[in-house]
Amino acid sequence: MRVAIIGAGISGLSCAKVLNGAGHDITIFEKSRGIGGRLATRRTPDGLRFDHGAQFFTIRTEPFREFLAGETLKWPARRDFAQNNDWHIGAPDMKSFLRTIAGSLNIQLETRIEAITFDDGLWRLGGQGAEFGVFDRVIITAPSVQVQALTEFSPRLQSHIGAVHMAPCWTFMLTLNNPSVLDQDAYRNPQANLAWRGRNSSKAGRAATPECWVAHASPQWSTENLELDKEQALQMLLPEICQLLDASIDDLICFSAHRWRYAKVTKPLGAPFISDETGTLFAAGDWCLGARVEDAFTSGYELAQHLLKS
Ligand SMILES: Cc1cc2nc3c(=O)[nH]c(=O)nc-3n(C[C@H](O)[C@H](O)[C@H](O)COP(=O)(O)OP(=O)(O)OC[C@H]3O[C@@H](n4cnc5c(N)ncnc54)[C@H](O)[C@@H]3O)c2cc1C
Repeated sequence: MRVAIIGAGISGLSCAKVLNGAGHDITIFEKSRGIGGRLATRRTPDGLRFDHGAQFFTIRTEPFREFLAGETLKWPARRDFAQNNDWHIGAPDMKSFLRTIAGSLNIQLETRIEAITFDDGLWRLGGQGAEFGVFDRVIITAPSVQVQALTEFSPRLQSHIGAVHMAPCWTFMLTLNNPSVLDQDAYRNPQANLAWRGRNSSKAGRAATPECWVAHASPQWSTENLELDKEQALQMLLPEICQLLDASIDDLICFSAHRWRYAKVTKPLGAPFISDETGTLFAAGDWCLGARVEDAFTSGYELAQHLLKS
């Protein structure tokens, strides 16, 4: 079976790994320069690392543990709130544990799929003025709104995916010239404009100095201020960022911002994947099940199991 997978995030890669292992002909199309999607780490020219997407993830199911194959590390972050599960990270980058899997797959990077057509029982993909081949099955693992844009031909997908909601997230990356006086490495306050603060330098594989932090604006603040440019967003929240880090503006060596338009699922589909009317085009991703890395894995994995059975 020739299968096209759109997206090389963890849902696309988990699906591809199972199907590839069963001997199917898999091609992954990824619009970015690299794999990992929202498992993202920004590297600065002077070698600093900021995990500006997922901060950590938990492992709750056996298939996910097997998929990770011991390639992640624990982040024993000091925090003042309870958490039942260990926090796991990729090192030195969040997506590092995906590289071995990706290495065995056919991934076309910097290839944005813009059009999908169905003709005579086969799917054709196109984009950027080019055609990317003919496939028996297509799997889209982009965020839900982007799946909708690619599947206007399917009333079934439009109506089901239309009920899903994903919130944006403004992320801020900050470097201090002196170690912070803060005891905790992780802090959450869903009620505040800045809902998360994490000491990136306390994660394995990241330089301990100078100290790097990542802060997230709340879904509400991010939604209300979505269309600001990066400079404006930073300027608006800089006083609160300094307060959050117990630092003054002069303590910050550098700071930058990143806007995730589709960051965290707030209303999932409620099923691990969904198909169109033909039963040969599928959509998967975290938004099917929840807001966590493991939800994205499970969605892709369950879809692959379904395809192997059918
Ligand atoms: C700021 C932030 C913080 C988070 N914190 C946590 C956390 O602490 N713990 C946790 O468990 N989860 C967290 N998450 C959520 C977690 O990152 C996601 O659930 C998970 O990474 C989603 O994986 P995915 O494969 O479903 O989607 P993605 O990672 O988004 O992958 C989809 C891929 O599809 C590609 N794509 C999209 N459209 C096209 C197209 N037309 N053509 C080709 N390629 C395309 C994209 O470039 C992307 O690489 C966070 C997310 C964000 C943004």
